[in-house]
Amino acid sequence: MNKIFLRYKFHYLIFAIITFSFVSCGIFGSAKKNQSNIKEAHDEFYPNENITDGPYIFKEDSTIVVKWLEQNMLFEVTIFDDNYSLIEMNFGFALDTANLFQKKKGPINSNFNNVKKFVAISDMHGQYLLTVKLLRKYGIIDDDFNWNFGEGHLIIDGDIFDRGDDVTKMIWLIYKLKNQADKSGGKVHYLLGNHELMVLNKDLRYVNDKYVSSGIMMSTNYDQLFSENSIIGEWLINNPIILTINDVLFVHAGISPEFIERQITQQEVNSLFQDKILGKNTAIIKNDTLLDFLKGRNGPVWYRGYFSDSAFTEQKLDRILDYFNMNRIVVGHTSQDSIVSLFGGKVFGIDSSIKNGKSGELLIYEKGKFYRGTLDFGKIKL
Ligand code: ZN
Repeated sequence: MNKIFLRYKFHYLIFAIITFSFVSCGIFGSAKKNQSNIKEAHDEFYPNENITDGPYIFKEDSTIVVKWLEQNMLFEVTIFDDNYSLIEMNFGFALDTANLFQKKKGPINSNFNNVKKFVAISDMHGQYLLTVKLLRKYGIIDDDFNWNFGEGHLIIDGDIFDRGDDVTKMIWLIYKLKNQADKSGGKVHYLLGNHELMVLNKDLRYVNDKYVSSGIMMSTNYDQLFSENSIIGEWLINNPIILTINDVLFVHAGISPEFIERQITQQEVNSLFQDKILGKNTAIIKNDTLLDFLKGRNGPVWYRGYFSDSAFTEQKLDRILDYFNMNRIVVGHTSQDSIVSLFGGKVFGIDSSIKNGKSGELLIYEKGKFYRGTLDFGKIKL
């Protein structure tokens, strides 16, 4: 964070303390009280680095509570009186304030037609700098991290979470781009992968140590930073598992033959994840055959059959495409060195191992053709 931001932050705190002194005593009290917990959490999980993380933003009654860590110090500020511009001033993104305190749960819009250009990227796993480099190279964002893709669509095909240590920054970048794209006639779609599902459902096996510490330093568990009263958590559960654009179906891992045997529709899957799987009790999910299937290894966020099942054939794929009335499926999840085309281009595997932080690619669709957008060699036709 640069000096200007720090200065603003200081002013922001002073402003908050003066204006809301009756609560700010409590705020500062809790911030101070937690400093010893912070040191213990830090020393145990992340001893060699100073942690700067956040913000994590929560809705509490009619106020917004913002928490963040800076160089191992916890800051917590409550915003009253719609003063949300403070967030943009401090963190560089604007909060989507339309109907902020109304429960945003409704049918997920996951079908789009007549889209002229789109790009897709997946499995970034906290590799923020590499992701930004790719998005800039192909003009999706500008040098100031703003939407630059007009009416184009950007599809995040799952797994921003886990492994890397720059997850939060990436989530807020995508959040900001989504709001900016909406205003320019474009769209950002954030499909959920198995790692989003794991974090929301308290499976924290792959969480970077930095974030384990972050959670403890904020006196909570990491998954609670994405609870339904957090801005990010509420946004996540309203995102799709399956998305269709023109004649292309996007899903994080894949649609298995077992999936179509169950005769479930795209809309049903998105609603079941939204209402009954994401952030819900895993024991209850396990006792429901359909939910357990959707969450499991042959479900849409885990299946790897296109890459690893020798019994999977093009005929099986055609039945899946026919079922959805689509011509192509784009998946992430199964890591490759580059974007790959399988079954004569009916499947594109776009997990290009960005998670390793060294190289990665974007899938580009423009003027009716598909390309690999590479970091070093430009666009390569698929
Ligand atoms: Zn995955």
